Amino acid sequence: MLPSLFDSVLQLIIRTSTDLPPDVRAAMKVALDAEPAATRAGQALTIIAQNIDLAADVEGAICQDTGMPTFEIKTPVGANQIWMRGQIREAVAEATRRGKLRPNSVDSITGRNSGDNLGPGTPIIHFDQWERDEIEIKLILKGGGCENTNAQYALPVELPHLGRADRTLEGVKKCILHAVWHAQGKGCSPGAVGVCIGGDRTSGYQHAKEQLFRTLDDVNPDPRLAELEASIMSRVNTLGVGTMGFGGQVTLIGCKVGALNRLPASFFVSVAYDCWAFRRLGVSLDATSGAIARWLYRDPAHPIIPMLDQAGFVRTGREVRVDAPLTEAQARALHVGDVVLVSGRMFTGRDAVHSHLMKHDPPVDLRGSILYHCGPVAVKTGETWQITAAGPTTSIREEPYQGEIIARYGVRAVVGKGGMGAKTLAALKQHGAVYLNAIGGAAQFYARTITSVDGVSLLEFGTPEAMWHLTVKDFPAIVTMDAHGNSLHKDIEQESAQRLEEISV
Ligand code: SF4
Repeated sequence: MLPSLFDSVLQLIIRTSTDLPPDVRAAMKVALDAEPAATRAGQALTIIAQNIDLAADVEGAICQDTGMPTFEIKTPVGANQIWMRGQIREAVAEATRRGKLRPNSVDSITGRNSGDNLGPGTPIIHFDQWERDEIEIKLILKGGGCENTNAQYALPVELPHLGRADRTLEGVKKCILHAVWHAQGKGCSPGAVGVCIGGDRTSGYQHAKEQLFRTLDDVNPDPRLAELEASIMSRVNTLGVGTMGFGGQVTLIGCKVGALNRLPASFFVSVAYDCWAFRRLGVSLDATSGAIARWLYRDPAHPIIPMLDQAGFVRTGREVRVDAPLTEAQARALHVGDVVLVSGRMFTGRDAVHSHLMKHDPPVDLRGSILYHCGPVAVKTGETWQITAAGPTTSIREEPYQGEIIARYGVRAVVGKGGMGAKTLAALKQHGAVYLNAIGGAAQFYARTITSVDGVSLLEFGTPEAMWHLTVKDFPAIVTMDAHGNSLHKDIEQESAQRLEEISV
């Protein structure tokens, strides 16, 4: 057996969750330098950069959504994969206990969270054999927000704003551009895409995700695919979706394409979208001890270069202070584009809470309140809860409920990321409320704005889905939907749709 395997896998998980690899840092630095600091995208990228540095400094989760742990493993012939799987599962459970992974494994029928990231299908572990002596383990942590923006196309297909995508490389290009445009800021852009041309529906998605194990700066060994990747990267950033869908110069930081053979009748293009919190690392292990012989993607001999060489998010003085609870007049005084600093009480609520509130009264008085779409990482020491990672989750999932919840319970501000749809926009206008876009993935940054955890309701839904009662101070966000019928998300989607049409001609 391999006495060090458990410790090696635990180290790999912790490092992956807390420290972005150098190629992703480099790409994000380019994005940071491309956006003027005082723009919405510039401010958002500064918060992201600060968050990346904070996470590495304190070994905290970069994003509160630590995603679906997916291991790709290569072993020498004859390795005991059954035993190794057991060790990896134990390491996942231990990383969860230590708050480095959020409990993310939920029974799909009952909604019960297993609490330790173990369950049917979680974590994902793929084994392969090779004719080498060492063991290689690669890990990617890809969160739900970006996973939900994955797309699969069956060619030929008619695409909005792009026309017909044929079974050609030009058709593939249209699919990739469409997927990136369609994601807008919901997958926490700027993101990277892994793409598979061909395969079947299942192998296509898997191969697309495998492309995300390539480094952002590599060159595809197949010259046809290398040209396709370069062509996408030369065009896609003219879309203007930008960081978090706020508009800007950088929408995508990488495009990696692979191909599989297909059936004559099928031509799938599968796109796996990963967010800026692109957490992927690997290790090479000694096959007799399981100890780490070498890190992949990073060289520990080289110190981590901080993303920022100055203080981070700098206030311009134009920020608007918002103190909870809010009155209707205070909510109506806010306009799209305002940068706000929120202080006071916030209640978290995401999928389970929204669904619950449709049938039950809220456990607390929500009049004038701020509802935060957030599933934090919460760690209990003795009787005390601490929130160690607390960025926003994708709001659009709550679209079927949000308008009614605002109307019924008097919520005055909803905080999340990626924006919401027409029903919510109408409710904001009718009832006098706003949508505040926080910076997706900035879990360490936002955790530091929490001054106290004052209580928790509905804990039976699991820690990510419970309603946490938080007091925050100077929590920055941008008004992207206001009580006057304006939506920055709608505007950016329309403007980028026009650019998409221009790119395709
Ligand atoms: S950065 Fe955004 S999309 Fe990525 S895991 Fe975090 S919340 Fe999800």
